[in-house]
Amino acid sequence: MEYAEVAVDAPVAPSRTFSYHIPARFAVEPGQLVWVPFGRRVAQGIVVKLSPAPQVEVTKDILQPVEPTPLLDWRALRIGEWMSRYYLCSLFDALALFLPPEFKGHVRATVHPVPGQQSDGAPQDSPTGKALLELVQRGQMPEAEFTQLLPRGGARQVDRWTEKGVIQRQVALPRPGRFRYECFLVPGGGLTYTDLVRQKDSGLPRRQESLAQAVAESRQPYPRTLANKEFGNSVADALVEKGLLAQDWARVENDSVPVGGEPAGPPDFVLTPAQANAVERIARGFDETGRGTKTFLLHGVTGSGKTEVYLRSIEEAVRRGKQAIFLVPEISLTPQTVERVNSRFPGRVAVLHSRQPPRKKFDQWWAIRDGKYDVVVGPRSAIFAPLPNIGIIVIDEEHEWTYKQDDAQPRYDARTTALEMARLEQAVVVLGSATPDVETYYQASRGRHVLLNLPQRIGSGGGRAGDSGGAPLAAAEICDMREELRQGNRSIFSRRLALELAETVNRGQQAILFLNRRGSAPIVQCRDCGYVASCSGCSVSLTYHATDGRLLCHRCNRRARMPRQCRECQGTRIRQLGIGTQRVVEEVGQLLPGVNVERWDADVTRSGVSPDEPMARLTRGETQVLVGTQMVAKGLDVPNVTLVGVVLADVGMHLPDFRSGERTFGLLCQVAGRAGRGAQPGRVIIQTYQPEHYAVQAAARQDYLTLYQQEIVARREQSNPPFNRLAHLVYQHTNRTACQRQASTLAREFRERRGRGGLSDVEVIGPAPGIPERVRGQYRWHILLRGRNLHRFLDGVAFANGWSVDVDPAHVT
Ligand code: ADP
Ligand code: ZN
Repeated sequence: MEYAEVAVDAPVAPSRTFSYHIPARFAVEPGQLVWVPFGRRVAQGIVVKLSPAPQVEVTKDILQPVEPTPLLDWRALRIGEWMSRYYLCSLFDALALFLPPEFKGHVRATVHPVPGQQSDGAPQDSPTGKALLELVQRGQMPEAEFTQLLPRGGARQVDRWTEKGVIQRQVALPRPGRFRYECFLVPGGGLTYTDLVRQKDSGLPRRQESLAQAVAESRQPYPRTLANKEFGNSVADALVEKGLLAQDWARVENDSVPVGGEPAGPPDFVLTPAQANAVERIARGFDETGRGTKTFLLHGVTGSGKTEVYLRSIEEAVRRGKQAIFLVPEISLTPQTVERVNSRFPGRVAVLHSRQPPRKKFDQWWAIRDGKYDVVVGPRSAIFAPLPNIGIIVIDEEHEWTYKQDDAQPRYDARTTALEMARLEQAVVVLGSATPDVETYYQASRGRHVLLNLPQRIGSGGGRAGDSGGAPLAAAEICDMREELRQGNRSIFSRRLALELAETVNRGQQAILFLNRRGSAPIVQCRDCGYVASCSGCSVSLTYHATDGRLLCHRCNRRARMPRQCRECQGTRIRQLGIGTQRVVEEVGQLLPGVNVERWDADVTRSGVSPDEPMARLTRGETQVLVGTQMVAKGLDVPNVTLVGVVLADVGMHLPDFRSGERTFGLLCQVAGRAGRGAQPGRVIIQTYQPEHYAVQAAARQDYLTLYQQEIVARREQSNPPFNRLAHLVYQHTNRTACQRQASTLAREFRERRGRGGLSDVEVIGPAPGIPERVRGQYRWHILLRGRNLHRFLDGVAFANGWSVDVDPAHVT
């Protein structure tokens, strides 16, 4: 086949490919990464299939393969195609997720003066003249740097000079990563080494004959580098051209990757009946083929033995010669889980981690592809690991929204992608959570997934004191902060929480205080005129951070001085309203002087502190009170933590997002789960101004089913997922009017489209300003589409530049 259909790295319609001619000097295969000319540029592309004829009459040649062999297998090509259609992104963007690290790249062009042509008539002392002179003196320059020397519009000047032959542009096609292949010369098509010997005296030029004989005598693939050195590059090329020799690529093995040991085998405890049932049911799933028989929702509170079920199920897959993907919401926040997987399969686990050096990532990718690992553990992107034979995909804490990528194309959900992938590979999927996503639970109740329950914490009732996880769930009480105010308590702590904190610390035990907001005060306001300090680039108020005495925008991280004077009325009475984690730390210090309080939130992480440090200090007992945001809600398993205080449950509860109740519930349950994991009973205090809120009520009782039932009724009434699909479309522009106009135009088009046959089930909501309306200087207006047949509705819609499309959005603000 002479032509290839290529997915090109360019902003083009979903699943769009372009036809290229394959030059005779190399072969390409589907899955191969290549350089292609695209418009005026050179871009990367991925060959998706070969064809005898192009889609168009005039085709260009593929310039060169990036790697001599395909990087993507059939699974990647199929899933990429599906992702492109489902998430409405370019095919290249979807496929690129499967590429090894560092492979996606752009070409670098250099410019060279053409000898004898240096004069363009431009005066030597003009900026253009000077730039040209400098180029001549230096002999060559990266195009980007040269353009910088030129006055505005330099790129056009470069084009002009190139056309006139004053300078030359050269494009270097980089080979990303490091050299991983070696090229060998072997007898050409159908020939043997013996046939080559017979070529002697057949009239070949002398050096070609010498090379042919050298290859023949070696009787094994002959390194091309050696041939080049001994006989010169062109000699080998000539023989390849004549078909006497062919090139063969062999990947150079990298032995820096450790090759593993024997699986450690399960610990010697006996599975509970519920665990045994789950393991047995999942094991059966490996042999089944019907819809809804290979995907499982494992529902159980923390400490109910879910991880043990995952590990045994993975062992089952490994026993069948298959591999496993184990997804966690965030590697650095789940070290205990990662450690358990590691110790169960010593040396057979690849942990994918964004903080790994590129070289390590790169080697790991190839080792995974070579089948050197049984298990890949990682965050959402680990779903694209090139395992040769996936048997099982485990998604722990499946309700976590970190599984959805929502800040870049493609806006994919690793869960949905995993289900699609598993369907293709006939693999098993286990979704696990203490508080499953309402949509997942609904699918399970409808038979799309097999629901497996682990109803109790391991050992609860059995009194396995001293073992972590051996305690019943901590009792939670709700503290009405309105009542505290009425009683004259203006502190951020209720009397109950203040008392419990003191007692916990006095007993030598530890406490965690949770508040889902960083900083000291989220609002800085003038008492006289009411002016609120806000970010100059975003329409959000600035948060006061006492640690450095500055104001910080939590959207764009812009910093500002704490004003001494009001900007509007020049008044000097500036007050701080609301609370954040830094304020909580201060208040604990005042309440319990001398106690070791530590703060752990994104500000701390950003300042370069590794998550291991606060965790280690808490585990060693050095930290008596840990104050933090979401991070303290996840993964921490410290038996001596007996008190968890939720400083204010209301943060985030009223976001205009239909999932805010569900999210509040999940978060509160998670935080509550940090208390009383050891021998001592735990206590949870939830402070709120809305004690009657259903999410708070359900969380205090750790009652998932009640939450689910209330939530699913509301979803049905409001026609929200899982009863419909959503697509969230956001347009960004620096000008508010232009932004609004564009959004209105598209909304109008959508409404007209709705009127057409068969598309009326889709509801067009908006346009409306986003919340916040402006971020980093860009206004945001959005449209929400809701309906069952969204893809049919959106088929063929061409979005103008500046729109982002999010199918199954995690957030609709
Ligand atoms: P989850 O993942 O639901 O939080 P784990 O699998 O981590 O639960 O189990 C909690 C604790 O109980 C762990 O320390 C684990 O080793 C232990 N464990 C799990 N299953 C059993 C069992 N059948 N018998 C005894 N201990 C168990
Ligand atoms: Zn900002």
